[in-house]
Amino acid sequence: MTALDYLECSRCSRRYERGKLHGLCECGGPLLVRYDLERLRREWQRDSISQGPSSMWRYCRALPVTQESSIVSLGEGLTPLIRVKRLSQRFGSSDLWVKDDGINPTGTFKARGMSCAISMCRELGVNKVAVPSAGNAAGAAAAYAAAAGIEAHIFMPRDVPRANYVECVMAGAKVTLVDGLISDCARIVSQRKEAEGWFDLSTLKEPYRIEGKKTMGYEIAEQFDWRLPDAILYPCGGGVGIIGMWKAFEEMEALGWISSQRPKMVAVQAAGCPPIVRAFEQGAPASEFYENAQTLASGLRVPKALGDFLALEAVRKSGGTAIAVSDDEIMEGVGDPASSEGIFAAPEGGACVAACKKLLANGFFRPSERVVIYNTGSGLKYIETYDR
Ligand SMILES: *Cc1c(COP(=O)(O)O)cnc(C)c1O
Ligand SMILES: [Zn+2]
Repeated sequence: MTALDYLECSRCSRRYERGKLHGLCECGGPLLVRYDLERLRREWQRDSISQGPSSMWRYCRALPVTQESSIVSLGEGLTPLIRVKRLSQRFGSSDLWVKDDGINPTGTFKARGMSCAISMCRELGVNKVAVPSAGNAAGAAAAYAAAAGIEAHIFMPRDVPRANYVECVMAGAKVTLVDGLISDCARIVSQRKEAEGWFDLSTLKEPYRIEGKKTMGYEIAEQFDWRLPDAILYPCGGGVGIIGMWKAFEEMEALGWISSQRPKMVAVQAAGCPPIVRAFEQGAPASEFYENAQTLASGLRVPKALGDFLALEAVRKSGGTAIAVSDDEIMEGVGDPASSEGIFAAPEGGACVAACKKLLANGFFRPSERVVIYNTGSGLKYIETYDR
């Protein structure tokens, strides 16, 4: 099983023991999971991966679960990586791909993070969790908690996509709709969790969702036969996916599976809530709280991300960029792959399509470069958004 070693603060490098429940570091920094990669390098060959399960758990030696019986899986991960030739032609590229994480349990890539986090809850004896969510994290948490027999308390903005509310209620979660944003939901959870005995599954306040999401990076490498693409466009809300993929690349290089070449990491945000783009443009190490956040891409409505500094670091080190697109562009970005490829994306994925079009048009991407558009969710979860 796992080569889990210890946890390490992403800010101050303080170490924490495995086998115990941890939230943030004392200094407020998110914790990252560290593995014994030297040992793994000797014991774990990339050619053996394809014999593992048809899910993200094929990378279980670099995931934190120590006992197989702890794993709570609904078949998440190992999603299609699709070459989109007709879309490429429209955009003037010759090597464009969509990684479609809409094909996941609960219809979004949040399944990856929650499968891992809830598995660790089971392993460490947690029986009540709380999640503030812009929508999809709630749906995934409710489903995996149900599968694990864990009580889920969900707090989400009143105007989340209807599918998110209904899926949580059907999964038996206790749902509270909040007049406000995800940041308001997070405040309620942190105020009440101690008295209620809830384990807080907020983005990056626990160390394991990022481990689930890093499997996106492992999969892209495996699916391209261990040669990473030239660029990856990712819809950046809390930034967990970018941070996770970047971590996966570092781990795979240490394992001897990939070279030191990295894709340009592109953080895509909505024009109505672009804190990371602003920070990138200003050369700032972290973002500022973005007031009056508004966008139809509910997963991108995150005014201030706890891991902003880590996402910005990955974008900068990779030679990537951060770019904002308007809601109108997002709607076009949903329509383009739907009508030319049959891929019905979430608005967050549509944002990446729109950004890709812009970056090809302005020359940031050369037409011959291999570019992956990350679609993080299914359009089917946003029917009333699209129907307006
Ligand atoms: C949560 C979410 C995002 C943002 O993900 P982060 O890893 O928090 O940046 C993007 N797309 C969808 C569909 C989401 O649900
Ligand atoms: Zn710290």
